[in-house]
Amino acid sequence: MAGIESLQDQRSVPVSELSHFLLDMDGTVYLGPNPIEGAARFIAYLRSSGRRYLFFTNNPTRDADAYARKLADMGIPAEPGDILTSGEATVRYLLSETPYRRVYAVAPPSFGEELRRAGIETVETGAEAVVLAFDTTLTYAKLERACLLLSDGLPYIATNPDRVCPTEYGAIPDCGAMAALIESATGRTPTFIGKPNAAMARMGMEKIGAVPGSAAMVGDRLYTDMEMAHRAGIASVLVLSGESTQADVDAAERKPDHVFPSVRELMEALRRSDRA
Ligand SMILES: [Mg+2]
Repeated sequence: MAGIESLQDQRSVPVSELSHFLLDMDGTVYLGPNPIEGAARFIAYLRSSGRRYLFFTNNPTRDADAYARKLADMGIPAEPGDILTSGEATVRYLLSETPYRRVYAVAPPSFGEELRRAGIETVETGAEAVVLAFDTTLTYAKLERACLLLSDGLPYIATNPDRVCPTEYGAIPDCGAMAALIESATGRTPTFIGKPNAAMARMGMEKIGAVPGSAAMVGDRLYTDMEMAHRAGIASVLVLSGESTQADVDAAERKPDHVFPSVRELMEALRRSDRA
């Protein structure tokens, strides 16, 4: 078959041995409001072949319920439990790795609610840490308060390091850009929980019972999706249906284990390996 098949080398895990998949969403199964061709069939094939998967997103502005509905509207059946957002990962991190239960949150209302549902209070005074999310309701008053608390030395945690978020109308400022503004004012940088932090991969793998030898991260970004796979010691599968191009792969110092035009060709490779 012509075209880009796979850049698999001797050391990487062959596609046939992959049974657990962490799946990026934007650029991998959909592009903004539109599903990527073949994505629904790819997911259906994973299910019917007994493979397990979890959808991953660095975007914390919507919770798992909202993403499950979005996927379902595209013909991809998903339950909230099939999705891990950087928001949920941040909540889990706060609960399992820190004693902070009262935080000053620079966050959209939905993430504030997610924190409170998990028993983490969002407070104006008496905060034990500052939590920064991709805040589409950011105001100067919130920035001012966060900067003052950070200058006082409060611990600082952020949902995701992305500088911009791609939308159908262009790239808009994301959590990483907000963190850059705060760093410029205070000199402080947060612990980012989302991709490429290996902690997020480990949470996802735990959710679906994955082990490194059989798990892969499938995504469209080299510096988040593929970087996280590398840090977590799992297989990296790049799809060229979103941000990265073949030229980016050629220029990259560390190549992904596998490269496919989209998840449709990944599905075909899995199907061929299952027939062999
Ligand atoms: Mg993506």
